[in-house]
Amino acid sequence: MSGKDPSEWLSFLETSRRLGIRYLSSASSATAPEIFPRAVEPVVFAASPPEKTTLDISEKAAVYAPSKPHWLTASQESLQAMELTAFDRDICECQKCPLGAARKRFVFGSGNPQAEVLFVGEAPGADEDEQGLPFVGKAGQLLTKIIESTQTWKRSDVFICNVLKCRPPGNRTPLPEEVDQCQPYLEEQIRVIKPKLIMALGAVAAQAILRTKDSVGKLRNRWHDHEGIPLRVTYHPAALLRFEGYKKDVWQDMKELTIKYKELTQSS
Ligand code: URA
Repeated sequence: MSGKDPSEWLSFLETSRRLGIRYLSSASSATAPEIFPRAVEPVVFAASPPEKTTLDISEKAAVYAPSKPHWLTASQESLQAMELTAFDRDICECQKCPLGAARKRFVFGSGNPQAEVLFVGEAPGADEDEQGLPFVGKAGQLLTKIIESTQTWKRSDVFICNVLKCRPPGNRTPLPEEVDQCQPYLEEQIRVIKPKLIMALGAVAAQAILRTKDSVGKLRNRWHDHEGIPLRVTYHPAALLRFEGYKKDVWQDMKELTIKYKELTQSS
């Protein structure tokens, strides 16, 4: 979509309405241009259709004109990108739990909105809170290496997010009530992106998505199902930084992920 043709916007709006997407006007957005820049200008998506039904097509296009895209990928103009952009703006001022008041930035997630593989971590740390992007600190650099070592994906091919969108103080483990409040956001991201595969990084992600209390050690080495999407569990990159002994296991888990990916994509 070029963004210039009003009829394209009207058709986008029709699709959005059909899908029941809510658009809120302008939340101040994070400016974190390092990897996947977000929009820096407010979006003026209207919360409801214009009252004046006699607006001509170019006036309507002006009402709904988008800002710059959030996602720096080949697919930045996809319906998923627009849905994610709108969803981010919808929730980025969340105050449902006390982490909202303490955060510097809301960390929605980043990557390819049409990703076939979704990586889910625990919660933003200090670097992520600073930049508004997931996995940009030491654990994030290791995650990038892990993803790219498969020689199947680059970091920009996948989508990366966390169960919690705000940093817990001192990077403590998320509380069950924080997970309960935040998890619907993750579920909506999964619904929009529709990945073919999910990799849960560490116990918090695995236990939240699979609704279990089992340890990573117990959950590894087999396929799980999350609403029809095959899901694998591996150690969190931060655990790997602390204990190198997990390296072989993580490598094995990534190998299983790529094998499954090839099976799924070659048969479709
Ligand atoms: N750890 C996580 O679980 N997520 C991040 O984004 C960074 C570190």
